[in-house]
Amino acid sequence: MLPHKTIGQGNMEYMTEFLLVFFVSYVWLMLGVTIGYHRLLAHRSFKCPKLVEYFWVGTGYLAWQSSPIWWATMHRAHHRYTDQSLDPHSPRYGWKNAYFGWFFQSTYPEHINPATQAKDLVKDPFYRFLEQDGNWHRAHLLSMLIGFGFRLILLVSFGWVVALASALAGLLVQQVPFLLNVVCHIPRLGYKGQATEDDSVNIWWVALLTAGEGWHNNHHAYPGSARSGFKRHEIDLSWLMLRLMKAIGLVKTMNEAKPQAVLAPLADISK
Ligand SMILES: [Zn+2]
Ligand SMILES: [Zn+2]
Repeated sequence: MLPHKTIGQGNMEYMTEFLLVFFVSYVWLMLGVTIGYHRLLAHRSFKCPKLVEYFWVGTGYLAWQSSPIWWATMHRAHHRYTDQSLDPHSPRYGWKNAYFGWFFQSTYPEHINPATQAKDLVKDPFYRFLEQDGNWHRAHLLSMLIGFGFRLILLVSFGWVVALASALAGLLVQQVPFLLNVVCHIPRLGYKGQATEDDSVNIWWVALLTAGEGWHNNHHAYPGSARSGFKRHEIDLSWLMLRLMKAIGLVKTMNEAKPQAVLAPLADISK
């Protein structure tokens, strides 16, 4: 039987390893969603080599984000119809549908069609494979299987601590954009830095959890900008990563909303 001290040390090592892998996985997977799925595929806010695109989109895919074509098409529809009846997930029409209800549909509603609204993505055979002919259930199932398959590889290669930490980080990253769709469209929960006609607001703790996506009102005002945090306190980790990638030549060009285009802040509507 091992002395208590050794057991305690062993547990401590497991815990340290778990927390380290969880934290690194969370940040990495979240950047896959923000940089790969959102700022690149959905908005084309910067240009990069195809290999860099696949790296970040592949990373986001491992956080169970499902088909990139589906994700980008639905997100473009969200921007086109923000907080109107055709918006796929506006909390104005019920928070349950905005949070997860819309996700469980079996295919696209009539007004949303990747063939016309995501022409740039449907050309790609890899994305077309992940899209599974527009059958949402099959696309989500494939995403689930590949995501868990990746953790199985981690389990065999590095042990259960790494596999569990990666899986839990991925599941959390999977939930956070769903959460953002709801809370960043409830005006009383944040502030508007930009004049938009929708309900979008900036929320600091969502920005912290989502590597900068919580500056959601800024984003709705300038959806084509690779940068979403405009003020000094609006820390935007995804933008910092993009700047680093640009500095080392992995990003060719980026759209950036210019500070002079930023309007004076409106009254804090959360008060
Ligand atoms: Zn939004
Ligand atoms: Zn967007």
